[in-house]
Amino acid sequence: MPRFFVSEQPENGVLTLRGEDAHHAGRVLRLRPGESVTLCNGRGTDFDCSIETVEKDAVLCHVLDSHPAETEPRQQLTLFMALPKSDKMDFIVQKAVELGAREIVPYLSKNCVSRPDKTDKKVERWQKIALEAAKQCGRGYLPAVGAVVSFEQAAEQAAQSQTALFFYENERQTGLHDALLDGVGETVSLMIGPEGGFAPEEAAFAAEAGLTSVSLGTRILRCETAPIAALAAVLYAGGNM
Ligand code: SAM
Repeated sequence: MPRFFVSEQPENGVLTLRGEDAHHAGRVLRLRPGESVTLCNGRGTDFDCSIETVEKDAVLCHVLDSHPAETEPRQQLTLFMALPKSDKMDFIVQKAVELGAREIVPYLSKNCVSRPDKTDKKVERWQKIALEAAKQCGRGYLPAVGAVVSFEQAAEQAAQSQTALFFYENERQTGLHDALLDGVGETVSLMIGPEGGFAPEEAAFAAEAGLTSVSLGTRILRCETAPIAALAAVLYAGGNM
């Protein structure tokens, strides 16, 4: 079933696709009146619709039913990702959205090699990647990609979650399995470091802030592999797979 994000609320039982989405529905997918389409408000609600009219710049959709989106994880997952080199963040954002992250918070830590002084254009690009990935995998929420913050800000925000995980390459005591033996909270933070890893003082700051230092096993994963492994494991532990 074709799926589109809409920012408006239904008006007299009608939702309208405009611009690129209208073009995609009418010209690319060649949807016709009477055909079914799902419109999602990007905040967890799906509208099952039947197409009423197809014009060049607007496709009117009659709302038949609305219900909570069925494609979201049971937990609200936030990925805190240290800025990696080159365009790895594009890949990480795409995979994190497919794996159900509700929000992605990029941050700058001590060992980040990439230290751009202007990041708003990058964040704009990552947000576009998040939208495309959310459409492709059928998300019920349009994940937010936040502005780049400092390590300290990220750690303090991450610590607010019920389950706050600091994925530390030097962690030797606590594996992720043991850390989640008592279950997964409704809100989960996953904090991942850059290619150079975390500085010891950052690990100490994170522990002080209340994050749980956990290991992803005895091998060192690349900074673009670790978030995928961590998100998948937390999804599994949270009963989403
Ligand atoms: N430069 C570090 C080293 O050689 O030890 C490796 C950093 S790793 C490329 C990037 C990030 O992925 C780490 O900071 C951590 O967040 C995560 N990571 C990778 N392997 C991990 C593991 N075995 N346990 C926990 N976190 C891991």
